[in-house]
Amino acid sequence: MRLKEIELNGFRNYESLSLTFHDKLNVFIGQNAQGKTNLLEAIYFLSLTKSHRTPRDKEMIKFDKEEAYVSGRVENLRSTIPLSLAITKKGKRAKVNHLEMSKLSEYIGHLNCVLFAPEDLEIVKGAPQVRRSFIDIECGQISKVYLAHLSNYKRLLQQKNQYLKERHVDSVMISVLNEQLAVEAAAVILKREAFIKTLSKYAKRIHSDISNGIETLTVNYHPNIKYDDDNKDTLSAFILEEYENVIDKEIERRQTLIGPHRDDIKFLINGFDVQTYGSQGQQRSTALSLKLAELDVIKEEIGEYPILLLDDVLSELDESRQAHLLTSIRDRVQTFVTTTSISDINHRIMDDMKLYTVNSGT
Ligand code: ATP
Ligand code: MG
Repeated sequence: MRLKEIELNGFRNYESLSLTFHDKLNVFIGQNAQGKTNLLEAIYFLSLTKSHRTPRDKEMIKFDKEEAYVSGRVENLRSTIPLSLAITKKGKRAKVNHLEMSKLSEYIGHLNCVLFAPEDLEIVKGAPQVRRSFIDIECGQISKVYLAHLSNYKRLLQQKNQYLKERHVDSVMISVLNEQLAVEAAAVILKREAFIKTLSKYAKRIHSDISNGIETLTVNYHPNIKYDDDNKDTLSAFILEEYENVIDKEIERRQTLIGPHRDDIKFLINGFDVQTYGSQGQQRSTALSLKLAELDVIKEEIGEYPILLLDDVLSELDESRQAHLLTSIRDRVQTFVTTTSISDINHRIMDDMKLYTVNSGT
């Protein structure tokens, strides 16, 4: 898919801005604090109705404004679709084809995107929570069914945890909640397993390319509840059993101790754990391989490539890796890149792209 144009009003440091994009490669160049990341954030927001850097939508509204608007036109295999989002005092409004969507989940999926930013290093280096949210965002982008199970799971989990904090806790009531929780947990676990398997397949190939065939990257799912059988019913029955085994402990500790809210992923290069033993460069290329692998995972799922947003990554790559990255990708995937210096752009890729200079919100 391609993002043909975008319009911003009162978004971050943009009063109003209207751009048409190149189908292959768009480069935003500018000094620090001019609005390069803000622009990628606007594209990400148009795609997923959320910012990648804040959970608070209000922060995206320009300081002196009450509302922010982002709209754009997406071209996919079937049609051209106008999308628009508004952040107002009353909340968010989302329109597809000028029609307001009653649920944001109906909006998501029209513009798919993958973003790679410096903070994505945390997927490799950070806490398990970061990796879970990585899976949840990416799985959610390609599977509405996953989003539904995940939100059920989270709601039931919160209910159960709240109940466990009450003064008198009845284990029969916990069992009732466990029964519902086990069904959702099984669905979440199986989707995660399948997603990570596909992701691992592509990431391995990409990482091998990036490292000139020297390194083998493996991505492993570490579910908190270990299981053998992939059948959904068998798995949820098994999870229920596991829940029942820890009821007394959970009542004592007043929280849910096991389940997919404690899952993790591990990354191995040539068999060693990248989080613990990897060099800075290996950790970075692992994160990059994962993000690039997502392009293929999404393609496999929805039949076309998403768009790719690369924030501040060029300066971290050497010349040949950069050229490899941008030339191999831009022919398949519409790419948006930010950088502070023109010298970061390899002359070999200059011929087929559009360059934008970003200067304090213009
Ligand atoms: P760098 O190269 O340092 O990453 P950048 O060009 O990516 O810089 P951005 O993060 O896009 O910079 O923009 C930062 C600027 O946007 C800052 O000057 C900041 O004050 C301004 N800004 C952030 N949020 C808002 C807002 N809600 N309203 C107005 N301006 C904002
Ligand atoms: Mg920036």
